[in-house]
Amino acid sequence: MSQANISLHNKEFTPYLPEAQITAAVREVAARINQDYAGQTPLFVAVLNGSFMFAADLLKELTVACEVAFIRVASYAGTSSTGEIKEILGLQEDVAGRHLVVLEDIVDTGHTMKAMLEQLHAKQPASVEVATLLIKPECLQHELNIKYQGLSIPNDFVVGYGLDYDGLGRNYRDLYRAV
Ligand code: 5GP
Repeated sequence: MSQANISLHNKEFTPYLPEAQITAAVREVAARINQDYAGQTPLFVAVLNGSFMFAADLLKELTVACEVAFIRVASYAGTSSTGEIKEILGLQEDVAGRHLVVLEDIVDTGHTMKAMLEQLHAKQPASVEVATLLIKPECLQHELNIKYQGLSIPNDFVVGYGLDYDGLGRNYRDLYRAV
């Protein structure tokens, strides 16, 4: 387990959640999914880049028959009235009639998740649920039904376990928070 602070782009981060705590949370989510999707073949929709480590560790704990797809969310500047537009890229699979589980690293304001869920629902899936490793309940600005929540954290900026600070920090096993 890492004890020391890390520096990314000259910004300091301090150890926050150790690997063991993350692993325990991932296993709890996996156990619930195994139970809830028994007899079904869900399609996991993992949101790159941040969710790659969560998706890999979660999928290794799953015993239900399942598929996985990887998507990205692109942000565009919209008109002044609509603000930022977020569009799903890379979803090749026909999701109509499928049971979808979106895998996300972190839900902060919920803007990204809200936009993603609207676009996924438009494709007529049988169901859509969300599994996020981290959620910042204080920051949420939308009423989202996030069924599987790994760990709730306060309004801190975190890196590690797939999450980056301007490209760096995704490789750490533990989570760090900005000092
Ligand atoms: P939201 O749309 O919910 O405000 O933000 C979601 C996205 O913002 C996440 O997918 C992630 O890319 C980024 N984000 C939000 N909070 C954090 C954080 O604490 N650390 C990192 N590395 N990214 C974050």
